[in-house]
Amino acid sequence: MRRTLVAGNWKMNASRAQTETLLSGIRDAGDLPCDVAVFPPYPYLSQAVEAAGETVSVGAQNCADQTSGAYTGEVACDMLSDVGASMVIIGHSERRTLYGETDDVVLRKTRLAIDCGLTAVVCVGETLEQRKSGNAEAVVKTQLSLLLSELSDTDWQSVVIAYEPVWAIGTGETATPEQAQAVHAHIRALLAARNESLAASTRLLYGGSVKAANAAELFSQQDIDGGLVGGASLDVAEFLGICRA
Ligand code: PEP
Repeated sequence: MRRTLVAGNWKMNASRAQTETLLSGIRDAGDLPCDVAVFPPYPYLSQAVEAAGETVSVGAQNCADQTSGAYTGEVACDMLSDVGASMVIIGHSERRTLYGETDDVVLRKTRLAIDCGLTAVVCVGETLEQRKSGNAEAVVKTQLSLLLSELSDTDWQSVVIAYEPVWAIGTGETATPEQAQAVHAHIRALLAARNESLAASTRLLYGGSVKAANAAELFSQQDIDGGLVGGASLDVAEFLGICRA
């Protein structure tokens, strides 16, 4: 049984004050019908871990693909665990596009994250051009292929996949529930080809302009197990609306 996960990616937003406001707002909402995670910028991770309490998980938005050493500006996975983070987003489309992260880097980071006891939220998704040319499923398959061939079944227990069509991220244009479900079903079939129980247990999140108003329909699709939420995660009422969807 897969429990719904709603994960808030704050991107390069927030402050100490906003971290407190967002987390106290989530905490004060009491019991929510899903798992909840927030991904603040690095400087606010410790504060977020303290403010989150037992029920909200805290993760980072990125990690280094090395363990330690002369990598100025990078943050290692064991540092994330050390400050109490339990998750990390890997391969977000902004990292792939703006910082040149390849599938190879994504695999290395995912391995390091798992080795440090973190849950890796690995992002995949096609551009508008790739969708228009009918290649959405092929793109996602390529992005997942190294993970499928290289990670063990045990490793996969620490992986969540977020399907985020690039054309829907931060644009206000959400994939229709049918479009999102079709790609999620494809991802689950890829997992099933490797191992049926992996397919049954791995959580697949949809990301791309999720709001309180569209979350229920998206989350009710058979293979959608929650959402990775960007913009709407910076507004407590909207984020809680998504969590209750
Ligand atoms: C994201 O950043 O992962 C995302 C899905 O953003 P938004 O919800 O703003 O589209």
